[in-house]
This record gives sequence, C-alpha cells and structure tokens, in this order.
Amino acid sequence: MKYLPLGYNTKDLEKHVKNKWRWEWLNEVEADGGKWGQWLKKPEISGVGFCEACGRTINYQSSGKKALRIHADDANHKKKVRTIKTNQVFIKTEKAKRISKLVKLKNRLMAKSNKPLKRRAEDSLTSQRKKQWKRIKVVI
Ligand SMILES: [Zn+2]
Repeated sequence: MKYLPLGYNTKDLEKHVKNKWRWEWLNEVEADGGKWGQWLKKPEISGVGFCEACGRTINYQSSGKKALRIHADDANHKKKVRTIKTNQVFIKTEKAKRISKLVKLKNRLMAKSNKPLKRRAEDSLTSQRKKQWKRIKVVI
C-alpha cells in the first residue's frame, strides 16, 4: 500500500469526503505516551486511514476522528502496538550489544596495531616460535 508523505495536501483526494483527513491526528497522544503517528498511516485512498500495527484500514469518512479513537481504544489494537514496541526495544538492545562488542574488538585491534611492528609480530607467535624469532632478531 502506498502511503502519503507527512503533510501532503489531501484536499483533492478528500474532495468528496464528509470528514476529511487531518495530519494533526498523528500527534494524538495516548495515556501510555504512544502517539497515533506510530501506527496511523494515510494511504492514497480517500476517507481511509491505515493502521500498520493491525494491518487494517480505518474508515473515518462518516465519523471522523471518532472512528480513529475507537480503533485506538480497541483492546486488540493496543495489544498489537505494545508487541511492536517491545520488539523494537528488544531489537535496539540486541543491536547496541552487537555494536559495543564490535567497538571493543576494534579498540583491541587498534591498540595492537599501535605497538611497534616487531612487538606485534611477537604477540602473535607461540612460545616455541618466539625462540625462533629471537634468533632471527639476533641475525637482523
Ligand atoms: Zn490498529
């Protein structure tokens, strides 16, 4: 489904609709702090909004904002929005963990690469090979 970009002029599209679409509906805040804009989209269809959380269209042309309010208060809808939020937080934490691991690894590698070349080579050698390395150094 194609959504209209935020603030798009819906005047022509909603010409024959009794209750016209209003972008400020997206700013409506729920008791839990969630905004309608988190799930409410405006498809390129007159008189109809779309709830991304439920995957359902909401017809607002006869009762306007009230229709959206009814949908926002629906228990199933609330459950779906909560699930999406929980998943988003989970994904964020997983991503943060992965990034911090990578940063640590990168810092370790950077620290190693800052050591003089010979030291670096030594670090990666086993004790047996270290002896060989010492002999080579003498030769150098
Ligand atoms: Zn919904």
